Parts: sequence; C-alpha cells; structure tokens
Amino acid sequence: MGSKNLKAIVIHGTKKPTVADVERYKEAMKEMVRLLEASPPINKGLRVFGTAMLYDIVNYLNVMPTDNFNRVHYDGGEQLSGDYIINNHDIRSEGCWGCPIKCKKWDAKRNIELPEYETIWAFGPNIENGDYEKIVKANHECNLLGIDTITTGATVAMWKELRGENYLERVNEMVEHEDLKLGSMRIARKYGAENKRTDIKGLELPGYDPRGLYGQALSYATSNRGGCHLRAYMVAPEIIGKPKLIHRLSPEGKAGLVVIFQNLSAAIDSLILCKFTSFAMTEVEYGKLLSAATGVEYRAEDILRAGERIYNLERLFNVRAGFSAKDDTLPEKIFSGENSLSRDIFEDMLRQYYEFREWKDGVPTDEKLRKLGIL
Ligand code: SF4
Repeated sequence: MGSKNLKAIVIHGTKKPTVADVERYKEAMKEMVRLLEASPPINKGLRVFGTAMLYDIVNYLNVMPTDNFNRVHYDGGEQLSGDYIINNHDIRSEGCWGCPIKCKKWDAKRNIELPEYETIWAFGPNIENGDYEKIVKANHECNLLGIDTITTGATVAMWKELRGENYLERVNEMVEHEDLKLGSMRIARKYGAENKRTDIKGLELPGYDPRGLYGQALSYATSNRGGCHLRAYMVAPEIIGKPKLIHRLSPEGKAGLVVIFQNLSAAIDSLILCKFTSFAMTEVEYGKLLSAATGVEYRAEDILRAGERIYNLERLFNVRAGFSAKDDTLPEKIFSGENSLSRDIFEDMLRQYYEFREWKDGVPTDEKLRKLGIL
C-alpha cells in the first residue's frame, strides 16, 4: 500500500449484515457483555482511566522505557498517571461504535482527545518530558497529520539522543524534515548509530520494556510486523494478570504461551474485534459468537487454528520479502547496559519458540504448512 501511495480503503455499505442464528447470537453477546462487566481491568481500569491506567504500574515495575530506552524508570511523570489525568480534566468517555467499555478519554471542556498510554509514554518518559499538556498537543498534531504517535515519539527520541534537539513541540515540521521524515531506524543508519536503534524489523518498540518482560520480549522479536505489542500482548499475563499472572522475569513456558497468544491475536484481528475483549474472553466465547453469526460451527481449537494459519501465512510473506531468523531479535540496547536481558536466555526462548511453531530457522517447514492446509 505504501509503495502505491495508498493510505486507506473506505468501504461504505447500506445493507445490514445478516446473522445466521439471531437467538444464539444474542445469547453469545449477553455472555460477552457479562464477562466484560465482570473483568476488573476493564470495568475498573479501561472504562475509568482509559489505557492511561497502565502508566503507574509500568513505571513501578521498572519496565517504562525512558530516554530512548537508555533507562527503565521515569521519575518526572506525576502528571502522566491515569489517576492524575482523570482528576484534573473534565473527562468525557467515548468509544468505538457499540462498545460498552468506551476507553477513549476526551477533555470535555476543550473538546480535545486525550492521549492513549502508548502516546503518553512515547512523548513522555521516552523523551524525558513530564509536561502532559505538551503530550496532548503533540498527539492532536499527529492525529491531524495521520501519523503514528509511537513511531513519531521514537523518532523524536532518536533525534534527541543523536543530535540533542527536541522536536516534541514541532512534530508537524518532522514530516517535511530531511532526516526526521525517515523515521528512527533510517536516521540511526544514516548517522552510523545502529547500536541506538529501538525498532524491530523497522517498526519502533512501544512502551513496555522487554528487559523486564521476558514473554513480551519474545513476542516483539517474533512479531511478523516488527516491534508491535499487539501481535501477542504478553503484558496481559505478565503485568495485568490476565488470564493469570505469570512470572515476568522467567523464561519458563514463555515460548508456548507466545505462540498461543499470537495465534489468538491474529484470529481476534481477523474477527475485527477489540483486543481488550481478551482481558475477559477466550477462544471459546469467540467461537460461539462466530458460529452464531455465520452458521458454521467454530470450536475453540478452530479459532486458534485459523489464527495459526494467518500467522504462518504472514511469515511466508515476510520470508519472500527477505526477512529471516536474524531479524527475529531485539535492539542491541536491550542486551547491554543496566537491567539488560541475557542474550543466552533470549536465544533459548527463541529456539523453543521455533520448535513450538515447527519452523526451521524462522521459516515454516513444508510439513507444517501441509498440516495447516496451506501447502
Ligand atoms: S472497542 Fe476497544 S478500543 Fe474501542 S472503545 Fe471499546 S475498549 Fe476501547
């Protein structure tokens, strides 16, 4: 799409979608809403604070990437916590169409959107800025420009580290700037600073430091679209305790879990459902919804298999585009310095991951593809 200068495809329809079994669908919906309402991270977290609910706990656990990933804790962020934000703004909650959670927070008086956690982090700790208003403004500018705030923040941080200039209050100038428009990876390459990169496969890491979250580290490294937290949001089990709390600083069992989370996430994306539903729902409930909607029976294992097929297909696409096992890694900064992640531990998790996936050197084997009905 990028090479064709295509930014988006908009589809407009006038007919209502039909549902195969209306009664069964209503039942499945009722169950979904019941589970969402019973989930504390949703009803006491997202609904009240939005994603800014994460700020305090991430910082407390020392997994807050700070100063372009040079540190893992930020001391100057009193204004950046979810609690501070909702107590100091006239909050209006908004959400995606039909959502009962409404995690989007707006300042009702000024009628301006308030930033998500990732944006607060990217324009806050990662460039050592504790001024919330500056973050609100930069977020708004990015929304108008249609540029991603994680990548923009990471690029501001990279430039600040390399050249000492802070573009936080001039993000609109970045899109025309000879260097800044390149994004952080190409800037690092241009200035011979590969060791300062904070991206994986060209996509900048978000606001959960992999040095203190072993599952998230593996998830980032093996993500088909690079340093993305949404391919397998291991923050859920490693910080939030969903579906259950696991030891974030242990490699035990992480490989298998990352595979399952990646498969499930691919299926959720394909269902066009919000990832936050997975704080309360599992493949069982997604299967019930899809079965009722389509009239085709989807058991839990069918949902996971659909996700696995997607993940393997994406990997094949990447292989054809020239990516290989050497790209399934983390930025150099993560393996060196204070709180660094042991390369040996990481490589052992990666080896186990390939085993679970039945991939050889990061590439799906023919046998695996046959099992999935792809070959
Ligand atoms: S669908 Fe998800 S992202 Fe959208 S408002 Fe609801 S919880 Fe938030």
